[in-house]
Amino acid sequence: MAEITKAQASQELDKIRPQLNSWREAYYTKDAPVVEDNVYDKLYNRLLDLEKMYPELVTPDSPSQQVGDVTLPDFNKVTHDIPMLSMGDVFSEAELAEFNDRIEKNVGHVVDYNVELKIDGLSLSLIYENGILVQGSTRGNGTIGENVTENVKTIKDIPQKLSRPLTFEVRGECFMSKKEFLRLNQEREAQGQQVFANPRNAAAGSLRQLDPKITASRKLDTFMYTIVTFDDLNVTTQHEALETLQELGFNVNPTAQVTTGLDGVKDFIEHYGEVRDDLDYGIDGVVLKVNDLATQQSLGNTVKVPRWEIAYKFPPEQAESIVHDISWTIGRTGVLTPTAVMDPVSLAGTTVSRATLHNVDMIKQKDIRIGDTVLLHKAGDIIPEVSQVVLSKRPEDSQPAEIPTHCPYCGSELIHLEDEVALRCINPKCPAQVKEQLTHFASRNAMNIDGLGPKIVEQLYSKELIQDVADLYKLTADDLATLDGFKEKSINNLLTAIDNSKSNSVERLLFGLGIRHVGAKVARILAEHFGDLDSIMNASAEEILAINTMGEIIADSIATYFENSDVKKLINELKSVNVNMNFLGSSNSNETNSHFTDKIIVITGTLKSYKRSQLTELLENLGAKVTSSVTKKTDILIAGEKAGSKLTKAQQLGTQIIDEATLSDYLGNEE
Ligand code: NAD
Repeated sequence: MAEITKAQASQELDKIRPQLNSWREAYYTKDAPVVEDNVYDKLYNRLLDLEKMYPELVTPDSPSQQVGDVTLPDFNKVTHDIPMLSMGDVFSEAELAEFNDRIEKNVGHVVDYNVELKIDGLSLSLIYENGILVQGSTRGNGTIGENVTENVKTIKDIPQKLSRPLTFEVRGECFMSKKEFLRLNQEREAQGQQVFANPRNAAAGSLRQLDPKITASRKLDTFMYTIVTFDDLNVTTQHEALETLQELGFNVNPTAQVTTGLDGVKDFIEHYGEVRDDLDYGIDGVVLKVNDLATQQSLGNTVKVPRWEIAYKFPPEQAESIVHDISWTIGRTGVLTPTAVMDPVSLAGTTVSRATLHNVDMIKQKDIRIGDTVLLHKAGDIIPEVSQVVLSKRPEDSQPAEIPTHCPYCGSELIHLEDEVALRCINPKCPAQVKEQLTHFASRNAMNIDGLGPKIVEQLYSKELIQDVADLYKLTADDLATLDGFKEKSINNLLTAIDNSKSNSVERLLFGLGIRHVGAKVARILAEHFGDLDSIMNASAEEILAINTMGEIIADSIATYFENSDVKKLINELKSVNVNMNFLGSSNSNETNSHFTDKIIVITGTLKSYKRSQLTELLENLGAKVTSSVTKKTDILIAGEKAGSKLTKAQQLGTQIIDEATLSDYLGNEE
């Protein structure tokens, strides 16, 4: 680094600190970052360099001396008797070697490390008294955190009672799976709300909610990795701590390995760098922890980070492309979503030519224009997104992107509802919306009408054969014969699929109607609770609210929906064509009696034909529960190539193990 004078360094620091502080506030306090992590990291590292050069310029309020940020004022506060620290990070193997050299020099010999994945979530502290969970809190500024006990109690994988009457604190990571992140963002986008930038912010925003029902409605998971007090647990290493946590019933990430010195660390980093897209949770690096707890203690901490651990951060996966167009699509709730259409480019294992721009605000905030060269990344390792415009490559004559004022599909004026970031078309007869609603009604988790996808819906609609979902049940063989390529067999298949859907349990209909805030899970809870559609329709918002997991927004939305006279008419029409209106219990699920129904399944190793997240969804749709670690309760281990410790454990426990070919056979049969 070029030498600069102390006065220059001081001047630069005066600029850097407020900038970093404002980014930190957006990230930690509001869970809504305004810049990419690598942009933050670059400036933060510049700050560290300057402070290293002139240590006398370090101020107590410098970001280098702070963990996280201020807590939200609405929460009760807790004090962490033992501070929850941040973690030092490195970005190259050379820096990792420097860290190892420092440790070896300090300790005087080669040490063992417990190597773990760095889970992209937020740290969580749990306190148990006599085996009962009494407190859950966030890290906050390291010393003062937010009390989120009631929210934590809604997280299914956190035991509320331990098998042993222990009084202790454990810590770990609370995170949101990629699948849930996708679901939540899709839901938020459809509702015109701001989407979360990544699973970490989504997890933080979901845990830090004043209403525990909101936390409960979003699926959060945990991996615990620290036992803060070890009295009477007989644990002497970090690896043993993980094993003990698992025995006590906590969810523990199963990938941790003990290595001597840096042996094997490179392989670990390489392997997880390659398969990270397949994991169903986000990771942003690998953590090395000195395994021996007594050595950890002797190495101690700086004000901000432990000296005995370090995070190796994966390099950001980015690519550049040029935006040729911004296209606008409309969802079934009328929300307009812009998409950047670009030159195809390879990004984190896939070819990308479209990237969601989410909403108008994002286009304006990032000032994305047609003709711009943009930097792309994958949010949560899955969704291609524009990180920023490469301003140096902007054409001279470029103009701000044109924002539509009227619906491109029906011409109605678009509106920007208060509290929403989205543009909405509120014409209930907008053909684009109606087609989306029809497609949703027929979709797998709704009425599951096999063969009725968007293309068929498009044809049926444009031929004026269907206008609403009730019309589907009036279709005749003659109607279907007018569709492209439809012959006797395809006509019969579709008519049978439509007919079969009449006998679905009512939660499918309820979800298929597309009521705002009523996802498949809420629909199922309502159906189970009320038993039939009439009871749901007649239920007041208060009666719905009385169900433990239902919040005000859902209750109001359902009550308002069923007050509408058009809706009442539609339901009557559906009744008249004998669509079932009762809850039939799980026995009606189309997917019962699968090989996987009610089984606890773990997936491990590399699979060729399935993405982890997709396979998990597939299995869950078949009624299985997919978990992350092999225990006595595991029924089936699906083992891909290069399966490691989970396979060994399953073999030891005698768990049924199936390989990818057998899996495909089973899944093929399910179809
Ligand atoms: P960090 O998140 O990088 O690392 C520390 C945290 O890692 C711990 O608190 C813990 O919660 C977590 N962790 C995950 N897996 C773990 C494991 N196996 N063992 C131990 N801990 C584990 O540190 P930080 O101080 O919370 O935040 C710094 C990060 O936040 C940087 O990556 C930075 O880019 C980002 N940041 C971004 C912005 C922005 O504007 N984009 C602003 C501030 C910070």
